[in-house]
Amino acid sequence: MIESRIREIIIVMFDNVDQLLRQHGLQVTAQRLAIMQSVSSRPHATADELIDDVRAVIGSISRQAVYATLGVLADMNLVRRIQPAGSAARYEDRVDDNHHHLICRGCGTMFDIDCAVGVVPCLTADDDHGFEIDEAVVGYWGRCPSCRKAAMAADAGNEAARSGPSGNSKRRSSDD
Ligand SMILES: [Zn+2]
Ligand SMILES: [Zn+2]
Repeated sequence: MIESRIREIIIVMFDNVDQLLRQHGLQVTAQRLAIMQSVSSRPHATADELIDDVRAVIGSISRQAVYATLGVLADMNLVRRIQPAGSAARYEDRVDDNHHHLICRGCGTMFDIDCAVGVVPCLTADDDHGFEIDEAVVGYWGRCPSCRKAAMAADAGNEAARSGPSGNSKRRSSDD
């Protein structure tokens, strides 16, 4: 009985996603629906972050199943997988445009940046080595405001320590 109630809720919540899956010839399952919905409601989340959301909707699901389903959805271009250097893959449902990402080197916060040029950048390679190239990635990296603030506060702290009486005398004695 509870199961049929959940089913009802899922069907109402995920009507659009349901259609999307069907359009792509994918069997509609509660797992796929829940994962698609989680990706939509939390853009740029990692698989591990999404697992909690998915479990909240459909109950127990293995980590492996979430990873596998994300893989299938990414292969079908229903979700986009972003692989920032040195961190876990992130997922989003904004798949149909050529947008880029602004990523903080400090905390990993990620923002969507609309394409400045409007065409897929650098897709016409100087030498394609016989590849059929389908993606060129532009990434903006830097530090977000809160990480910059934290870094500035840390710098100020170091400065204060250096110019303090103990720091001063220590430095002077070692300079001598
Ligand atoms: Zn940051
Ligand atoms: Zn994005």
